[in-house]
Amino acid sequence: MNKPIDDILIVGGGTAGWLTAAYLARRLGGLRPDGVRITLIESSEIGIIGVGEGTFPTIQNTLRTIGIDEAQFMRGAGATFKQGIRFVDWKTAPKDGVHSHYYHPFASPRLLNGGLDLAPYWLLGAAGDIPFSDAVTLQDKVCEAGRAPKRLDDPQYGGPMAYAYHFDAGKLANLLRDVGKLTGVKHLLGNVTAVNKAKDGAIASIATAEHGELTADLYIDCTGFAGALIGKAMGGEWIDKSDTLFVDRALAMQVPYDRPDAPVSTTTISTAHEAGWTWDIGLPERRGAGYVFSSRHTSEDRAEEILRGYVGRAGDGLTPRLLKLKVGHRARHWIKNCVAVGLSGGFLEPLESTGIVLIEAAAYMLARNLPRHGGFEAAARQFNQAMTDRYLRAIDFIKLHYCISQRADNAFWTDNRDPASIPETLRDHLEMWKHRPPNMFDFPNLHESFKYFNYQYILYGMGYPTQVDPAAHDHVALARADFARVQEAGKRAAAGLPDHRLLLNAVHGRG
Ligand code: FAD
Repeated sequence: MNKPIDDILIVGGGTAGWLTAAYLARRLGGLRPDGVRITLIESSEIGIIGVGEGTFPTIQNTLRTIGIDEAQFMRGAGATFKQGIRFVDWKTAPKDGVHSHYYHPFASPRLLNGGLDLAPYWLLGAAGDIPFSDAVTLQDKVCEAGRAPKRLDDPQYGGPMAYAYHFDAGKLANLLRDVGKLTGVKHLLGNVTAVNKAKDGAIASIATAEHGELTADLYIDCTGFAGALIGKAMGGEWIDKSDTLFVDRALAMQVPYDRPDAPVSTTTISTAHEAGWTWDIGLPERRGAGYVFSSRHTSEDRAEEILRGYVGRAGDGLTPRLLKLKVGHRARHWIKNCVAVGLSGGFLEPLESTGIVLIEAAAYMLARNLPRHGGFEAAARQFNQAMTDRYLRAIDFIKLHYCISQRADNAFWTDNRDPASIPETLRDHLEMWKHRPPNMFDFPNLHESFKYFNYQYILYGMGYPTQVDPAAHDHVALARADFARVQEAGKRAAAGLPDHRLLLNAVHGRG
């Protein structure tokens, strides 16, 4: 019997729970009498993971849809502007104190003649020795100069540069909770102690110590790594991906600035080390820093030494928090009347901020494709295929950063180049990209968070040797002129945009 969906119960109040709740309430009519009723229950004893401070530009649309104004978001979540990622020492290990770096900017590359890809011309040397992302976007120069992506008087959610945000994960969950409640989400504090199943294997109710039995038509599991509904109750299979992505531990720290007006980076700084990488995220009042590493390739003591070495004196007296990470994803994210969103559905290391992007994707699909009038099976199959595709494509993209590195200072790096650890789809792409750059036909799937140019930024930032045929590219003169124009426009953009810290002071109403 198909039963209409009138009630949704979300279990868990981290980023996944509150983002999904606030988004669904807005899209499915949380305040309308005929809308879907949404309840969120979260434990007051089990905390949220509290990391996850970097996002993707998709977050702008999500926040706008939820109904949060940009300044309200920035103040409420303690946010700064993120324009991409600065990758340090990923290509080669530092030598004699000399470090390499490249950017993965959010901007899409300029196209030649309104449509032609500049990558082959860059590969043919038409841009001289200008790094790839600097040659095809304005954003490297803006980031390098510490400039914000927009001015104070630019309209909200947009500006001359593409951008997302860094924020405080705890503050974001609180903000989304406040907004979610205003848009009709019923909020309960309580612990789910048992999940009761019906004869057909669907969830019949959940038992809580504080509120007794709770029932709904659809249950959304946002309980984080616990996977209390999708895993423990529904027996959803977990596909382990630690043979591809080796990072399985994190040491996290909140690091103070040495002075209140210290510059705030407008990119996530990801620095490669012997068995993993450090993240460094600039917030208005502190930095979020941490080392994610492979426990098969280093010890926790050595990892702490690396993190302390990176953070320097700013870390004195601070104790890093150790997190054990389960790398992989569910075989099915939607089983019967239970859907997993967030860490309960999967976790991939945070190299490209895929955690929140995957939560957003799940929330968009649920909002648009919810079988409001019953009949879960087709919707579940479609959702499961889409989420699996998204995870697999994100795994390829993350793995790319490791498997084309030339580092050899630890087995961590050489193991990452073992073909057996590289998904076949990525191996095939890398083979083809020996003779041509990635293009849009490589990624025909809608459920692809990363586009062909994201791959280009990583490949050519890391020096991947694609050999293109000069005879097939006869617009060299045009390309040269275009590369020169991009350089000039980049300088003008950097000169015309405000200092990131100064803009943040204005947005946050300080000094
Ligand atoms: P959690 O935050 O763990 O929330 C779980 C919720 O479930 C809590 O409210 C808890 O109280 C509740 N709960 C659990 N059990 C019960 C129960 N029995 N009864 C009631 N309630 C229960 N993502 C990004 O997009 N960008 C990043 O830069 C990024 N960096 C990361 C860095 C690290 C080191 C890690 C580990 C992750 C990172 N992520 C990042 C991923 C991101 O943190 C998560 O995707 C995101 O926070 C969502 O978490 P969650 O809401 O699924 O789980």
